[in-house]
Amino acid sequence: PDGYSSPSYYPTPNGGWATDWQDAYERAAVIVRNMTLAEKTNITTGTGYFMGRCVGNTGSAPAKNMPQLCLQDGPLGVRSTDNVTAFPAGITVGATWDKDLLYRRGLAIGEEFRGKGANVHLGPSVGPLGRKPRGGRGWEGFGSDPVLQAVGARETIRGVQERGVIATIKHFIGNEQEQYRMYNLVQPGYSSNIDGRTLHELYLWPFAEGVRAGVGAVMAAYNDVNGSATSQNAYLLNGVLKDELGFQGFVMTDWLSQISGVAAALAGLDMSMPGDGGIVGIPLLGGAWFADELSEAVLNGSVPVSRVNDMATRVVATWLKMGQDQDYPAPNYSSFTADREGPLYAGAPLTSPRGVVNEYVNVQGDHAELARDIAQDAITLLKNEGGILPLETSTPLKVFGDDAQANPDGINSCSDRGCNKGTLGMGWGSGTANYPYFDSPIDAIRSQASNVTYSSSNTFPSNVVASPGDVALVFINSDSGENYITVETNPGDRTTAGLYSWYGGDDLVKAAAAKYENVVVIIHTVGPIILENWHSLPSVKGIIIAHLPGQEAGQSLTNVLFGHVSPSGHLPYTIPVSEDDYPDSVNLIGGLQLGQVQDTYTEGLYIDYRHFNKAGIKPRYAFGHGLSYTTFSYSNATLTLSTPLSETPPAPPTKPSTPTYPNTRPAPSEVYFPPNFPRIDRYIYSYMDAAAADLAAAINPSSTPYPYPQNYTTTQPPTHPPAGGSPGGNPALWDTIYTLALTITNTGSRPGRAVAQAYVQFPDGFPHDTPVIQLRDFAKTAVLAPGEGQTVRLRITRKDVSVWDVRRRNWVAGGGEGGGYTVWVGGSSDRLEVRCVGE
Ligand code: BGC
Repeated sequence: PDGYSSPSYYPTPNGGWATDWQDAYERAAVIVRNMTLAEKTNITTGTGYFMGRCVGNTGSAPAKNMPQLCLQDGPLGVRSTDNVTAFPAGITVGATWDKDLLYRRGLAIGEEFRGKGANVHLGPSVGPLGRKPRGGRGWEGFGSDPVLQAVGARETIRGVQERGVIATIKHFIGNEQEQYRMYNLVQPGYSSNIDGRTLHELYLWPFAEGVRAGVGAVMAAYNDVNGSATSQNAYLLNGVLKDELGFQGFVMTDWLSQISGVAAALAGLDMSMPGDGGIVGIPLLGGAWFADELSEAVLNGSVPVSRVNDMATRVVATWLKMGQDQDYPAPNYSSFTADREGPLYAGAPLTSPRGVVNEYVNVQGDHAELARDIAQDAITLLKNEGGILPLETSTPLKVFGDDAQANPDGINSCSDRGCNKGTLGMGWGSGTANYPYFDSPIDAIRSQASNVTYSSSNTFPSNVVASPGDVALVFINSDSGENYITVETNPGDRTTAGLYSWYGGDDLVKAAAAKYENVVVIIHTVGPIILENWHSLPSVKGIIIAHLPGQEAGQSLTNVLFGHVSPSGHLPYTIPVSEDDYPDSVNLIGGLQLGQVQDTYTEGLYIDYRHFNKAGIKPRYAFGHGLSYTTFSYSNATLTLSTPLSETPPAPPTKPSTPTYPNTRPAPSEVYFPPNFPRIDRYIYSYMDAAAADLAAAINPSSTPYPYPQNYTTTQPPTHPPAGGSPGGNPALWDTIYTLALTITNTGSRPGRAVAQAYVQFPDGFPHDTPVIQLRDFAKTAVLAPGEGQTVRLRITRKDVSVWDVRRRNWVAGGGEGGGYTVWVGGSSDRLEVRCVGE
């Protein structure tokens, strides 16, 4: 059952038993108890694509004071509107390795969503995890490691939800490449075939942390996992997410990905987005899988009303838990036009009522400063030969490459950043936001340095004359994004240039390196990029990865270039020497594929550095690598055993009483269209015509039962599964096993910030094969003056020293009471300076 399969798992565990959520559930139950069936099904559906101001808009229950909810992209800021901050992307904030910046970015994002009246933030993204280096959307998340992703998600969720906005962790799960992700008329979306251990130890890990942080919503993925679509995969939604992880919020589909009504509801789906039916990514005009269809399914007895009660209660409870019943603003912008007035429902432009749709509310506050700090502290110095950096502002600087300037066609000229012109501040697709302004590298360089020339062409000018003392700064990039836009023949994934730079960037570097003695290469990239065409040329002295900085691409970079701060970013992924160094199974599956694409995770746990270490392949730059202008020592390490270890965690707590709902079929009149109801074209309603409702209600489910899946039951699980017990899983998994304290001292001559990365090595003789080291916690110091030290504390939990045992369906540790685990700490996965063993 825990291999490559999707066993049946029924029913959906009702929400409402977890302590933190009980109050919200009690209040929600009162509201839902008084709702008609049409009201309940209305709040679990979207009103149709473009049928409201936001990218997703739920139905409402105005008589019960339940408003429509506005759901909006994306992970780096409010998409498709104005007067917002375009924050650095997930991969960038991941590269800071700074929990506080992650959290403050979450707070600021929450403030902006709230200010625009968006109830639900469609982020953070932790799926893709980064299994496939060419995958299109890895940059929306925090890096190719489950713990880095988990901390990124947790801190983001904490921040966003502290501002009363519902966060959505996505895409659940196995969404590791863009091509073939969606169902269409001829082909299902690909199946990510993942065994139970790999699922738990890599891909589920950040979702578990997000659920533990109290995330309000989960978005299913487009693809299948083990042959069953994630939006109706009972094992994943009912079993893993809601039973094992104890998720109390609501699960929504990814946009237009729903492929069934009854089956999806029974499997644990709670909300259909954006509400339209259709499996081809094209809304079927007026049709839906939920909405009136769900009303009908309840009336005819195929979906138990208890399930719909749980669906509706989950939505209302989440809304109440965030405090959105108190003074939450209504949406004040339209995702579909910049005009002040227009159709209220852009999806029915000819018939829709019109009105004011954009109020241009400015929600940026002072977030530009935070955005700049993040972009700056993410800057990752890979190479600094002869101390070429920092530069003097008087040095003659010869700047090359289109990537140094703002997009000359206009900073937002390509919708959803569906082009690669000028500095690459973010990838493309739904994970973008419009720039309010763009601080470009060239502008910032010119404002600080006195002697600058710039050639924006990606072809090296033939007439260049180099003088001794010149430093050439060459800007190159590598872009990717979401599959609904193809940019320069890349269908989201990086198919064309692969892991090499775009637009002949490597040739530009080579030409500059032939001309100048001192070259610094600055790279904006979505993920791993191969540097081998020029990395070891003698004049290439400096290499910087500036990731995807968002709107603050300029000063964040010059602060580092000119030494106002030391670089302190570290790679959130490995940079290989060759793409062949990856396991074959993480290559993209592209080309012409007939039938369902099968993407089997045969590499198991061995992605990114886990793979390079196992295979003994030296990468060009290891996961976690990042230089500073100063140096640090790691000393005085003490490892304290806080909790004696047992093989399996203590049993989960007894399951508290779970809300249960009567299963009396409602009267068909509960879903009748009210008399003289003014229907809007294309709008998705949960009401039915009286005759159809009556007909549905006349069906006798005992003589005409719905063909329920195997092992279907409506009996609620009375106990927690062995790995369950609280949101996130068994609470004992977060017991601290080891506390590690150490002192980091600045041993160089410039101020700087250091990162401590803690990796666990399992004891010798541990009965399960494990990666040699795995990141488990990290910390970043304040700015340390030369000579200054700081004590940092790192925490290793029971889960951190456990593996998922597929037979026991539980986490198991080993090594006796003291563990016998080795904890390594250093500034990079290949520079582990401190070694502690738990005896
Ligand atoms: C994306 C989601 C996004 C949704 C709404 C989908 O295409 O995969 O990440 O939130 O659209 O725009």
